[in-house]
Amino acid sequence: MDDVEHYYANDKDATEYQVKIIAFTLGLYLVFFAFVTNYINVWLIIPVSSILVTRWMIAFHELFHLKKADDLDWMTRLVPIPFSPVNLGYREYRQIHMGHHRHTAQKEDPDAFHIRGGHLKALLGALTQHEQATYRFIKQHGLSKEFTVMFGLRAALFFILLLAFGKAFLAWFLVLRITYVINDYVFFHLVHYRAGPEGKFKHGKSSYGTFKIPLPTWLQYPAIVIYGIDVVYATMHHDIHHHNTRIAAKYLPRIAGEE
Ligand SMILES: [Zn+2]
Ligand SMILES: [Zn+2]
Repeated sequence: MDDVEHYYANDKDATEYQVKIIAFTLGLYLVFFAFVTNYINVWLIIPVSSILVTRWMIAFHELFHLKKADDLDWMTRLVPIPFSPVNLGYREYRQIHMGHHRHTAQKEDPDAFHIRGGHLKALLGALTQHEQATYRFIKQHGLSKEFTVMFGLRAALFFILLLAFGKAFLAWFLVLRITYVINDYVFFHLVHYRAGPEGKFKHGKSSYGTFKIPLPTWLQYPAIVIYGIDVVYATMHHDIHHHNTRIAAKYLPRIAGEE
């Protein structure tokens, strides 16, 4: 793999991820306001919001490896998507993610609570990811001025939307949250845990490490059409991402020798 640098994500990719994050965020609000003004019904807001959140999550992750919070616009840093009344911003999630790469699936991994301990415990971790991540982050790092302001803005946005739109907001919130939980479970637990003897870190019957999730070709194509190549390839080849975080998601199958 002598010319692996060829496949590294660059500034152009970073700008693309940043633009996508803003576009997906605005897209989510657009479908919500189309829903509350009765332009679209609940059966349309569910798939559209779910697809946008999934695409947003991977763009958000890819950008962690390319840009610090200070290099980004306020909207990307703020994360104004109401997944929870208590949530973190780009800077904090990036810091957590760097810890995840340093201590992957070990007890010291800040994401251990939604990776380790078997399927059910990881699911409980994924269900409470935003609240637990926020609580653990504040406990460990305290409150900076910027964090407090942004935390307050996110919480205010959540409650303003709840008070203004009531049930319609709760329906949208549930779609955002359930989608996040499912994706979080796949992108943390399923790629870092195997019941059985394989894997790098063995704790009794459980194995922790980073594993690929092979998808049959017939499933890859429709998944790519719906979710885009970044989502599909980043999920399938998370093992390569942990080996070399600089490789752009779109090139991961090439490194895996599948293209
Ligand atoms: Zn990563
Ligand atoms: Zn990982």
